[in-house]
Amino acid sequence: MSKVLIIGAGGVGSVAVHKCAQVPEVFSEIHLASRTKSKCDAIAASVKERTGVDVSTYQVDADNVAETVTLLKQIKPDLLVNLALPYQDLPLMDACLEAGVNYMDTANYEPPEEAKFEYKWQWAYRERFEQAGLTALLGSGFDPGVTNVFAAHAMKHHFDEIHVLDIIDCNAGDHGQAFATNFNPEINIREITQRGRYWERGEWVETDPLSWSMDYEFPEGIGHKKCYLMYHEELESLVMHIKGLKRARFWMTFGDQYLTHLRVLEGIGMTSIEPIDYKGQQIQPLQFLKAVLPEPGSLGPLTKGRTCIGNVMTGIKDGKEKKLYVYNICSHEDAYEEVGSQAISYTTGVPAMIGAMMLLTGKWSGKGVFHMEQFDPDPFMEALNKHGLPWHEVEL
Ligand code: NDP
Repeated sequence: MSKVLIIGAGGVGSVAVHKCAQVPEVFSEIHLASRTKSKCDAIAASVKERTGVDVSTYQVDADNVAETVTLLKQIKPDLLVNLALPYQDLPLMDACLEAGVNYMDTANYEPPEEAKFEYKWQWAYRERFEQAGLTALLGSGFDPGVTNVFAAHAMKHHFDEIHVLDIIDCNAGDHGQAFATNFNPEINIREITQRGRYWERGEWVETDPLSWSMDYEFPEGIGHKKCYLMYHEELESLVMHIKGLKRARFWMTFGDQYLTHLRVLEGIGMTSIEPIDYKGQQIQPLQFLKAVLPEPGSLGPLTKGRTCIGNVMTGIKDGKEKKLYVYNICSHEDAYEEVGSQAISYTTGVPAMIGAMMLLTGKWSGKGVFHMEQFDPDPFMEALNKHGLPWHEVEL
C-alpha cells in the first residue's frame, strides 16, 4: 500500500497512471501533477471510467523546486515518478532531496540550451541520495529501461560474459501522417539529429548523424527494416555494468519518408535550438516546429502496426560462443484499446509503472542513484509478462 506522485501528463504519464490504477494493491493512492492541470484531469477522468480508480490532480511547475517541495510536503508520497521532460530531472531530484522522497524517471537529464545527454549530471547526486537514505532509479522506460533489464537478465541466466550488445528499436507502425514523432517532438528531434556514438573496445566512437545503417529481419512477420545507428543513453551505464562488453551499439528504424522530411527541416534550420528573432520576439525554431507538428497523443487512434524492441547479445557461456535475442512486440492498436495511447507511450509507461512497483514493494532497494541493470532482473521480467509487455528470447 503506497502513495505515488506522477509528474507529467503527456503520452507516457497517461499510460503510467492507467497502469498504476490497474494495480491498486501496490498503488493505493495515485496523485498526478503537471504544468497544465486540465491534462491531468482528462487522464483522471479516463482512469475513472476504465478502472473506477480515483486520481488526485494538481498544477505544478516542475522547474520550480520550491513549488514541487510544497506539493511533496502536502501529499507526502513514497515515490515521485518523473514523466515530464528530461529538462526537469535535476530540479525534481533537488525537490526530492529537500522533501525526503524517493525519485524515478525514464529519461536522462538534458540541459535545455544544449542538445546533449549524459548521466554525469545525475550521477553527481549519488552521495546526496545515499546520505539522505533515499533511492533514485534512472531510466525506467523501455529504452532506457527494459533494454537494461534484458541485458541484466541475459547476464544472470545466459552468459558468463557478453561481448557484443546491439539494442534494436523498431517501430513498424504507421500513423498515416506525412511527418510526426511518436513522443515529444522537441526531445525526439534533438535526440536523432545528434552525432551517433557507440562503444568499441573501451572507447566511444563517433559517427555523423544517422550515417550508419544496417538491415535487420525482425521476427513474427514484422520483416526486413533499415536501422540507423544512434547514440542512446543506456549505453553509458551498460558499458559500466555488463561484464566483458567489447562493443555496444543502439539502432533505430526510420522510414524513408520520415528521413526525407527530417533532412529538409534540418537543411532549412527548423530543427535548430538556437533562438532567432521573429518580429521582435526570440523563438527557438525547434519549439516552433513542435507547435506545428501533430501532438503525439493525437496519433493514438491513427497508429496501426507493432513495435519490436530488443537486445541482440553475443558472448560466452561455459567456454562456448552464444548469441541471444530478447525482445518484446507491442501492438499500437491493442495499446490504444487498453489505455487510449499508442505503443510508444505504452512501452514507456508500463515499465515506468513496473519500476515504481519494484521500489514500492521493496523488490528493488538501495540508497543512492541506480540504473535498472544494477538490480535483480527476475521480478521485473516477470512483471513485464503480467502487465502487457510479454517478452521472448531466442538463441540465434
Ligand atoms: P509529452 O510531451 O507528451 O509530456 C510531457 C509532460 O510533461 C506534459 O504533460 C508537459 O506539460 C509536462 N511538463 C513539461 N514541462 C513541465 C514542467 N516544467 N512542469 C510540469 N510539467 C511539465 O512527453 P512524453 O509523455 O512523450 O514523454 C515523457 C518523458 O518520457 C520524456 O522525458 C521522454 O523523454 C521520456 N520517454 C522515455 C522513453 C523510454 O523508453 N525511456 C520513450 C519515450 C519517452 P504540458 O502539457 O503543459 O506541456
